[in-house]
Amino acid sequence: MSANQRKTQLEQLREEVLERIQRYEAHQRHTRGALDKDLEEQALEIQGDDVVDLLDNEARAELAQIEKALSRIDTHVGDRCEVCGELIETQRFHALPYATRCNECAIP
Ligand SMILES: [Zn+2]
Repeated sequence: MSANQRKTQLEQLREEVLERIQRYEAHQRHTRGALDKDLEEQALEIQGDDVVDLLDNEARAELAQIEKALSRIDTHVGDRCEVCGELIETQRFHALPYATRCNECAIP
């Protein structure tokens, strides 16, 4: 996969993640505004909010990783492991387009 192809793929992925984050934010605004419910309903809603917060945090972490991978491509080190400097396996990019580490150095 060429650097340009990876860049295009990452940019598309970034759009998707940004859309997801917007949906989570809309959900959070919507549910936190409602306070006139009975306790049971509120409890259920709070549980749901926690899940959304978790997904939101995940999406933000993913976005940060995508940005990082994109900036590494821009500085022509996108195909190198950030830890050991070896070339990152092509297969790894297929599994994880925003990989910045080789298989050896990847955090499990
Ligand atoms: Zn490495």
